[in-house]
Amino acid sequence: MEHLKARIRHVPDFPKPGILFYDITTLLADPAGFRETIDALTAPHAGQGIDRVVGIESRGFILASAVADRLGAGFVPIRKPGKLPSTTLGESYALEYGTDSLEIHDDALGPGHRVLVVDDVLATGGTARAAVNLVQRLGSTLHAAAFLIELEFLKGRDKLTDVAVTSALRY
Ligand code: AMP
Repeated sequence: MEHLKARIRHVPDFPKPGILFYDITTLLADPAGFRETIDALTAPHAGQGIDRVVGIESRGFILASAVADRLGAGFVPIRKPGKLPSTTLGESYALEYGTDSLEIHDDALGPGHRVLVVDDVLATGGTARAAVNLVQRLGSTLHAAAFLIELEFLKGRDKLTDVAVTSALRY
């Protein structure tokens, strides 16, 4: 996995001072890098009956749609408030200062679905927790949450103790 790590650009102080941003555009632009990224995200979950892959706006969309295609599953978006056109279910979560929220179409998932949640980075876990809550509130079976990058020192897994979590690259 070191060759994938080598293709990720680290941008200090973006989007604000003190944050080291893991920029995956440099990885995704490389043909072999993109394919191996999707391979690494998909491998732990192949052949396990997943029929919906949920991607979190916006970098999660890029990864989740490719994973869904690889698994023969459908793709479902979770978006920032006000973006989805039909009726939605929303979930708020705490940020360092204030709150944010995410939405899913309320008919996008149901009890018959086996779901994989995908995002690029697991940091503090607030985003993933909100996404998992939306999947659970719609009555689906949550198979797992898969991340390309896990920032272990931020302990996002502590917010996901009831969820099977996989990550391809750890820092
Ligand atoms: P969190 O809710 O703290 O786990 O943050 C996860 C979300 O924020 C993901 O959707 C990431 O895209 C983004 N994110 C958080 N920290 C970083 C980082 N250091 N580099 C790139 N993206 C990040």
